[in-house]
Amino acid sequence: MELNRVVVVGGGMAGLAAAATLSARAREVVVVERREAPALPPQAGLPHAMLVSGALVLNELFPDLGQRLLDRGAAPGGPDPTRVACYWAAAGAVRRELRFPDLGITRTLCSRELIQQEVRASVEQIPNVRWEQDTVTGALARRGAVRGVALGSGRSVEADLVVDAGGRDGGVPLGADLPVPPTSEVGVDIRYTAFLVERRPEDLDGAVLAAVQNTPDNPRMAIALPMEGDRWQVGFGAYFGQTGPTDPDGARAYAAAALADPILAPLVGRPFLDRPWRYTFRTGRRRHWERLARPVPGYVAVGDSVASFNPIYGQGMSSALLQVRELGRLVDRHGAGRALATAAPKALATVVDAPWRISTGADFMYARTVGVRPRGQQRVNGYVARVLRAAAVDDRVNLAFTSVSHLLAPPAALFAPPVLARVLRHRSVPAAPAQQTVPARTPPAGTYPARS
Ligand SMILES: Cc1cc2nc3c(=O)[nH]c(=O)nc-3n(C[C@H](O)[C@H](O)[C@H](O)COP(=O)(O)OP(=O)(O)OC[C@H]3O[C@@H](n4cnc5c(N)ncnc54)[C@H](O)[C@@H]3O)c2cc1C
Repeated sequence: MELNRVVVVGGGMAGLAAAATLSARAREVVVVERREAPALPPQAGLPHAMLVSGALVLNELFPDLGQRLLDRGAAPGGPDPTRVACYWAAAGAVRRELRFPDLGITRTLCSRELIQQEVRASVEQIPNVRWEQDTVTGALARRGAVRGVALGSGRSVEADLVVDAGGRDGGVPLGADLPVPPTSEVGVDIRYTAFLVERRPEDLDGAVLAAVQNTPDNPRMAIALPMEGDRWQVGFGAYFGQTGPTDPDGARAYAAAALADPILAPLVGRPFLDRPWRYTFRTGRRRHWERLARPVPGYVAVGDSVASFNPIYGQGMSSALLQVRELGRLVDRHGAGRALATAAPKALATVVDAPWRISTGADFMYARTVGVRPRGQQRVNGYVARVLRAAAVDDRVNLAFTSVSHLLAPPAALFAPPVLARVLRHRSVPAAPAQQTVPARTPPAGTYPARS
């Protein structure tokens, strides 16, 4: 069924994907974005990874995107799409490879800015997508249904469907014309610092990326991802208000002594190529549109507007892309009316469930994490630590773990009998990294503000 007009609120990653997806199902798509292109969110200067599930959706929408990113200097994921050389320190073991199923897509690594620029350029080429630089100030509501949006300029745009991709704190204001859905929050107060340094071919013995995960004893983590221009984007994060360094000497000392593995010390001691970034992420937040007593015809929320995850697993963009893919299927099945309003919140909540459980489950390894603790989570986290150690030595477990963490398979796949058997078989894998470890120095304790 073809719709007449769809309004997409927000031209971030979720909005861009929604515009492309719905342009094939509507005569016209109007994207209302208040900022200038490429409308990057404040966290865009921090390392961003695109999970394979997200890359798959982008590849479906824009088959030439991977090649265009490579042409603009993005780093290739390596010659074999099923293996990415890495240094991944987690749970006291080090994985040297990430194993992936062969999905036939070009894997690339680049900055958030580059990928968003290229996706936006693709969407701007779609003839029936129109752009409005304006702010959505309200919904046009009639008898409980949304019929369009009101703009800050005083105009309004009528639509069969309003897709709210306004991000974590934006979008169509809730409360006046729209109900406020129940919300879950998980308080983690993570402080990020990030910087760019030169990338040399011999770095990390040729590995494409490196990560040092936090552990129950050490709530600090780091990641180094390659980006265009032969640079590393390096990010440090620490739970509960601990702040990281923003100068090369401090960064080198921190990487050597405060993280669970010192692999990144030689990289981060190099001169910074740009000013460092800081970002505070206080809570993971999920809006439960699926729990509203009455559906809202004409309105669907996607992306961070539905779920804003602790970024530790790099899920936000991919979750948004998977939600939008699901929305396309739902519109095919139900059109834009009451049937969509009834089906979409539940279907999108199902897409969000896995990344939400993965990231908040890991957050609850700490007693200081604020929120409703799922029952049995400590046992699950203990098992996941064993999976991570087994993944360092067992290809099959490695593949199962990356499939789950890249949102290609549900978390239950880690408990499938063949995986479970291998994890149990490898229970003697030592809980010590291959790299020499150093005791975790505890930086000055930060304050942990009350849940916001
Ligand atoms: C520190 C950090 C690191 C992260 N790392 C990763 C990572 O490695 N991988 C990953 O996938 N994700 C990561 N994320 C998450 C990712 O950045 C978000 O999930 C993603 O930006 C969400 O896209 P979105 O389009 O839903 O929202 P946004 O990017 O926030 O876009 C929303 C857009 O809507 C516009 N808008 C809002 N309200 C209105 C209005 N009323 N009228 C008009 N326009 C409006 C805004 O201007 C904005 O452009 C990270 C997040 C953080 C905080």
